[in-house]
Amino acid sequence: MSKLNYEFSESFAQKMDAEDPLKDFRNRFHFPKVNDREVIYFCGNSLGLQPKSVRDYLDRELTNWAELGVDGHFHGEDAWYHIRKKSKPALAEIVGAHEHEVVAMNNLSVNLHLLMVSFYQPTPDRFKIIVEAGAFPSDQYMLESQVKFHGYDPVEAIVELKPRPGEHILRTEDIIAEIKNQGNQLAVVNMAGLQYYSGQVFDMKAITEAAHSVGAYAGFDLAHAVGNAPLVLHDWGVDFATWCSYKYLNSGPGNVSGIFVHEKYAERPDLPRFAGWWGHDEGQRFLMEKGFIPMFGADGWQLANSNVLALAAHQASLDIFQEAGIKNLREKSEKLTSYLEFLIEEISGESGVLEIITPKNPAERGCQLSLLIHRGGKAVFDEWYQHGVVGDWRNPNVIRLAPTPLYNSYLDVFRFAKILEQSLEKFA
Ligand SMILES: *Cc1c(COP(=O)(O)O)cnc(C)c1O
Repeated sequence: MSKLNYEFSESFAQKMDAEDPLKDFRNRFHFPKVNDREVIYFCGNSLGLQPKSVRDYLDRELTNWAELGVDGHFHGEDAWYHIRKKSKPALAEIVGAHEHEVVAMNNLSVNLHLLMVSFYQPTPDRFKIIVEAGAFPSDQYMLESQVKFHGYDPVEAIVELKPRPGEHILRTEDIIAEIKNQGNQLAVVNMAGLQYYSGQVFDMKAITEAAHSVGAYAGFDLAHAVGNAPLVLHDWGVDFATWCSYKYLNSGPGNVSGIFVHEKYAERPDLPRFAGWWGHDEGQRFLMEKGFIPMFGADGWQLANSNVLALAAHQASLDIFQEAGIKNLREKSEKLTSYLEFLIEEISGESGVLEIITPKNPAERGCQLSLLIHRGGKAVFDEWYQHGVVGDWRNPNVIRLAPTPLYNSYLDVFRFAKILEQSLEKFA
């Protein structure tokens, strides 16, 4: 539907909710309260809400542990030894991959390092890394320490891409031009899939092709893209990627990360890697012998045995994703975010208090809108919170709002708009 059909009215929002095939999924989640009222939760970009089913999933494993003890590793319906396999179908679908290209393990920052061990092999001729300027701090520290670990100078090795003066988002043509410009010196492009600050989705396919054309690898941090933006990692030819599951995947605070390693590296025991017993050939693992033989595919990057309780919570949410269907989620997401954009423009339009920096084109964004607030500052944001709006503030003046298609409604967006309208009357 085109934006022109949107209306700033409660009845319109109610009508949209009534027609929403995903409307009942909202009831599967716990909503926190502020001032005794359920919040308008637009913070799934930071921590997704808790599915009500998580307790049952955890309880099942606690019961297995209580009743089976160590035997739980090999007996029972879902023997822990193979527990990692359960999440593969959903993860593969969400990131657009084959099941053997993905595995859930560790945490995101850890996995970034492990993948760089394999895909950043600098030489004096080819040692540069391209990243967007203002990348998430953990990613910046990771890159800096990786470069130093190999004996190079981060100032020379790390090439940061900045938007043109007066612009907030990177142009694909400029990214490609810089990749070509670095040419033979470029070892790897390691960017966000969806930039956490601006909400921009990068053209991962074009970036990957450009990186390959100069002989470099392309890897993406999908923390904000996974479960949010359409991903086709396998077909795009992306070399490696990693993500966390506690943002749009609703797996719980600090919960397990996932990795993608393209099929072309599925049988490459020669690739450098930091190994552990869980990445070793499953059939021979308990021979406890010397000589690491990596498992086929992404599994070969595992180090430690699976965190069963973490994976149980993860699975509760993945099952909901599969039930809702990622295509349906995306369809609703585009409409919901466009509605939010429409209302913000209606209300703030003339005053210029709010400026949306996230791309207008739905193909270049997920559900999040990032707003620059030009007057009133954090006081406006704090006032929203008192009215039950949970968003996210980033210094110096960015507000991020992420209506998620799984548990947010059009009425949430409308109710936020009313609060916005009142607050701007006060602060504008
Ligand atoms: C959320 C986020 C992280 C967090 O890393 P953890 O290892 O999960 O603490 C890292 N990078 C990006 C881009 C993020 O958005």
